[in-house]
Amino acid sequence: MNKWSDTHCHIYGEQFDQDRKEMLLNAQKAGVKRFFLPNIDSQYTDRLLSLVREEPTMCLPMTGLHPCSVKENFREELNEVRQLYRQQESRLPSGSKIVGVGEIGLDLYWDKSFLKEQQEAFITQSEWAKEWGLPIIIHVRDAFDEIFELMDQVNSKELTGIFHCFTGSEAEAQRIIGFEGFKLGIGGVVTFKNGGLDKVLPHVPLEYIVLETDSPYLAPVPYRGKRNESAYLEIIAQRVADIYEMPIEELSRITEANTDEIFKL
Ligand SMILES: [Zn+2]
Repeated sequence: MNKWSDTHCHIYGEQFDQDRKEMLLNAQKAGVKRFFLPNIDSQYTDRLLSLVREEPTMCLPMTGLHPCSVKENFREELNEVRQLYRQQESRLPSGSKIVGVGEIGLDLYWDKSFLKEQQEAFITQSEWAKEWGLPIIIHVRDAFDEIFELMDQVNSKELTGIFHCFTGSEAEAQRIIGFEGFKLGIGGVVTFKNGGLDKVLPHVPLEYIVLETDSPYLAPVPYRGKRNESAYLEIIAQRVADIYEMPIEELSRITEANTDEIFKL
């Protein structure tokens, strides 16, 4: 059976409190063996950690402050991000470690009033990621120009990461590839009729692609608009394999290798 990694999912969220065990079992039946968990803000940290304690071999934790959670108190929140990294030995089960800094980035869709703070939070967390030798997981919505400006400031040989839930143009994909050490996270949007990724992906070499669901958000067709879950990664993978016109076994092998590379596993 093909093996997959859901490189971005929020399955510690309350949306799964009623059936988390069953949902995880269904995902495993679909071949999803690893679940990468970006944090959102300090309100979610206990939930995230308790899932990692329950499923330490499958669930891989990250630390980070989501741009939509950047408010007046963002410096305190950033402190929590660093604390989790520093205290991981006592807060995580043995054998587990923090595998990434995320999710971080810019979101100007919902609220533009904290742009300056979002920028500062992104720079600070990117610098920590370099110091810690971890990839950054980037969330960007309605802010490609602004994030590219920041990337030009912080990018270096040491910085690697994923532009998660990539839905941009071919030019934006090329820009990301040009940063070196960055990959595109492809999720449910690839199955949307007017998602546009079917035109962009053929120009992106497969070595730059990892797969994700972003559960519980952005479910692929035919579940669009419903709760997303990691088992649907299979649907996303099939669509990506079709676009690249390749056997799904090969896609599994390549995306698993890409995932190992970016998360240094
Ligand atoms: Zn996310």
